[in-house]
Amino acid sequence: MIAFRKTAAAFGAELVTSAEPSAPAEGEVLIAVVAAGICGSDLHAYEWTPGYEFMAAVLPVTLGHEFAGIVRALGPGVTGLAVGDRVTCWPTVACGRCAACRGGEPQHCQARNIIGLHRDGGFAGTVRAPAASCRRIPESLPLEVAALAEPLSVAVNAVDIAEASPGDRVVVLGPGPIGLGIAFVAQLRGARVLLCGLDDGVRLNLARELGIAHCIDLAGEALADAVTRVFDGPADRVMEATGAARSVSDGLAVLRSGGILVVAGIHSGHLDLDLTRFVRDKKQLRAAHDTTAQAFQTAIELLTAHAAVLSRLVTHRLPLTRAVEAFELARQRQAVKVLLLPQAESEAA
Ligand SMILES: [Zn+2]
Ligand SMILES: [Zn+2]
Repeated sequence: MIAFRKTAAAFGAELVTSAEPSAPAEGEVLIAVVAAGICGSDLHAYEWTPGYEFMAAVLPVTLGHEFAGIVRALGPGVTGLAVGDRVTCWPTVACGRCAACRGGEPQHCQARNIIGLHRDGGFAGTVRAPAASCRRIPESLPLEVAALAEPLSVAVNAVDIAEASPGDRVVVLGPGPIGLGIAFVAQLRGARVLLCGLDDGVRLNLARELGIAHCIDLAGEALADAVTRVFDGPADRVMEATGAARSVSDGLAVLRSGGILVVAGIHSGHLDLDLTRFVRDKKQLRAAHDTTAQAFQTAIELLTAHAAVLSRLVTHRLPLTRAVEAFELARQRQAVKVLLLPQAESEAA
């Protein structure tokens, strides 16, 4: 089968012909991948930016952790899944043995593995995954939309961590897939949302199509001015989804005293923080990463209930054979979610 693999600790990844995965082991299934999304972390791995050195020990590895497909084979001991089931997968595999896992908080497992970063993932015709990580999806949910479950679940978790209440003034920084998801979920829960980008016309237009109330390009207006104009006061919550450390300090500056800022971006830089002001204003700085089992389930339900509107997040679909082109597209900010379709023929999809 064809697979898109990170083969060297350097820029890039390669389309290779690799062996079909062997029969599934105890507790595992084989999934024929129908759609797999390119994530910001795939781009970091591809570009080999700092923070992804851990992958050097697992290379070569097939990328892709946002996938949906059809169960093709069951390993020994698998119950609750059948061949032919349509599934998506929570790609984080906790160790099951550490204190966090035993305490029912696998999201805090320090020995967790991610399918598509630590072990072979979904940019391939077939992927092997633990049955316990698979989630059956409703018949009405297209597999291409189901492939958005992982990134949307990351957004749901970030909004959960922000503890936003109906009526809260929420600023979302960064209109990428995660920021768009955060804005959508926060607004659905009754928050007043202002989504900001920087030279981000295409993605902000998509945000308007998703129904986000206020979408502003900071190329034309300073953040503080935009927040005052839209909210007539500071924000109750700021959600950072840019990956630029500077946006955290900018976000803190428009946050009310006692407000919460959630950092959800993947950062390679350091934060310079005015601690005097931070402490006097009792601002709360929190981190959101990955997701929880509950947020993953919520994401599937949201995708099912809002499939038509959320499917707009998918801006490009390409066969797996065009993976390099797809990655180059995803690196530009013209795209939101780029899907690879391993079962598609090589013509443009
Ligand atoms: Zn992802
Ligand atoms: Zn663990």
